[in-house]
Amino acid sequence: MSKIDKVKEDKEILNKYRNLLRACSDKTNKEDKKIIRKAFNLSVDAHKEMRRKSGEPYIYHPIAVAHISAKEIGLGATSIVCALLHDVVEDTDYEIEDIKRLFGPKVSKIIEGLTKISDVFDQDISLQAENFRKMLLTLSDDVRVILIKLADRLHNMRTLDSMPTHKKLKISSETLYLYAPLAHRLGLYPIKTELEDLGLKHTKPNEYRNISQKLKETKEERNKYIRKFIRPIKSVLKAREFAFEIKGRPKSIYSIRKKMDNQRIDYDHVFDKFAIRIIIDTPLEREKSDCWRVYSFVTDFYKPNPDRLRDWISTPKSNGYESLHTTVMGPDGKWVEVQIRTRRMDDIAEKGYAAHWKYKNQNPKESSLDNWIGKIRELLENPESNAIDFIDDFKLNLFSSEIFIFTPNGDLKTLPKKATALDFAFEIHSDVGAHCLGAKVNGKLVPLSYELTSGDQVEIITSIKQKPKKDWLRFVVTARAKSKIKSSLKEEKKEIAKTGKEIAERKLRHLKVKLDRKTETELIKFFNTHTSLDLYYNFGTGYIINSQIKEFVKAKNAGWYETIKQKIYSRSKSIYKESRVKKIIVFGEEEEVLQYKLANCCNPIDGDSIFGFTTVEDGIKIHKEDCPNSIQLRSNFSYRILKATWVDKEQIDFIATINIKGIDRLGLINSVTKIISSQMNVNMRAISINSNDGVFEGEITLFVHNVAVLNSLTKKLKNVDGVTKINRTYKHI
Ligand code: MN
Repeated sequence: MSKIDKVKEDKEILNKYRNLLRACSDKTNKEDKKIIRKAFNLSVDAHKEMRRKSGEPYIYHPIAVAHISAKEIGLGATSIVCALLHDVVEDTDYEIEDIKRLFGPKVSKIIEGLTKISDVFDQDISLQAENFRKMLLTLSDDVRVILIKLADRLHNMRTLDSMPTHKKLKISSETLYLYAPLAHRLGLYPIKTELEDLGLKHTKPNEYRNISQKLKETKEERNKYIRKFIRPIKSVLKAREFAFEIKGRPKSIYSIRKKMDNQRIDYDHVFDKFAIRIIIDTPLEREKSDCWRVYSFVTDFYKPNPDRLRDWISTPKSNGYESLHTTVMGPDGKWVEVQIRTRRMDDIAEKGYAAHWKYKNQNPKESSLDNWIGKIRELLENPESNAIDFIDDFKLNLFSSEIFIFTPNGDLKTLPKKATALDFAFEIHSDVGAHCLGAKVNGKLVPLSYELTSGDQVEIITSIKQKPKKDWLRFVVTARAKSKIKSSLKEEKKEIAKTGKEIAERKLRHLKVKLDRKTETELIKFFNTHTSLDLYYNFGTGYIINSQIKEFVKAKNAGWYETIKQKIYSRSKSIYKESRVKKIIVFGEEEEVLQYKLANCCNPIDGDSIFGFTTVEDGIKIHKEDCPNSIQLRSNFSYRILKATWVDKEQIDFIATINIKGIDRLGLINSVTKIISSQMNVNMRAISINSNDGVFEGEITLFVHNVAVLNSLTKKLKNVDGVTKINRTYKHI
């Protein structure tokens, strides 16, 4: 390492500080500058012995974060103070109390938020997820915490080069996974783009280098083309006395690579490598008409592609983005994207939330960004959702672009792409969702799972008798619908367990056994249900049948429990358990049955907390939650982690298909469906019946709990008058 020149460094620190003051001069007064100076002095002192990985004085980092907060996000004095102090409590001897005493409660609250969510790179994903959740929770306190956090992340990404490779990968993956989408969601487009480009640079260095090299090589040619393209537009805008600015901007390396990937094309075939942006200065009340005037001038010269017109002026995106986009045929037969917007819209697109705030009072339109933050808050306050589920749901809402749906009254609702009629019902109200029977889309009747498209007008049909079904989780996509359905299913399970307990009491009384606490414990062990809720639920659904109850009483009377008590409490599986219960692992929320292998490094056994990891060559491997490899797997490849749970083999739901043949007669279908629906907790998924020349043939798809239920059902169906043949097939779901 070269010798440290203290004098030169101190000069450089002051230089950087002066730059910072210049960057925020337009929104700070004398008082502000005083307190910024105070924060700067404290930070310099607190970090004076510390250096970054690159060898630079640590204080460069907080100054840079403050600079980004001021210049690139447009934040004010309080945020600059907080950015300067953001690592002080975390890394030095100062306590949050000191900050409060010196800078007041507002600053200390933000610093506290920043400290709480400070990077836990060396923790596993559940902690990271929990932290991320905390970070979003602070949205309800102060959105500045997140904005400063993004500035912090951006500077760390800019200075990632001095980190060892495995850290680079970890930090970059996390950035691409969480922070870039978050920046996008908050409408900070330039920051989102830079985070993505830097993320790509460190995760796929070769691809990044190739594309950036090619962009450089073709720069001259591209600029020439852009000049040629905008020349006629410029002269007409001048003639009409518009105040305007026109920019030709290359698309980001990340987005070019994404296009190459998605469309499986090489660099030369990506047609829109740049976009033209026309920014006009115009008063608020003339914004819309003036943007469309500009559109009309542009399309006087160049033919537009009608499929590529995007009007985010009439309906802004929910992150606040407003702009008019079109793609036109430019000189030499090349498609060119043109973005038309006002200065105000451009400010919001560039600076996101902060700018949005600035214009809020001028613009009476309801703010959809505030709506979004409201939704996030609602989700976070739902105690049912665990952190990892939350991240998944949240990401879903981040990545998918949006669709706009109308209510019968013409009100507009924003939903993520792929949202179904049922999602829309939950969007209106959780009661409407819970009782949703069907929907009419543009006047036509559709199933609940119907995928909506932008512009649909949707009317929801409800019924008091309807209630949420497990099956619904298959096709809803919004986090809101998911969490409401889950909590309602839990309620239903409790209801069934309540009846189940009464059944158990009655049946045991018949066999002269009293259902007291001791019997309950024995039942739980005997049927291996872990909780009394599961036990009584199994009674309620008829999963535990009479012969098994008799078997239990016999064992109980023979003193079974006393003799094996010891074994139960030892960790090793008792012989009894082994012979009765076969456990298997299922994956994800849907408890999917997939092929898997147990990992050699930690050899999980039944009862361990586990997770699945998708390997490149060897399918899914199961690791223990506390496996020594888990930290590394989870932070580097979080997208390859699967939620995994042990379940009793017999308890998984099946999809069963029953084929029925018979002689057609009046009322036959009615009898068949009546038997199915009267069977408790058997859900019919689909039914199709054909009747031809007096012969009837039907196919019914059902969800059943286990084979025993299916057997008793087919037995009953066989007894229906006219049914001659029943075949069935089933598979795990
Ligand atoms: Mn930091």
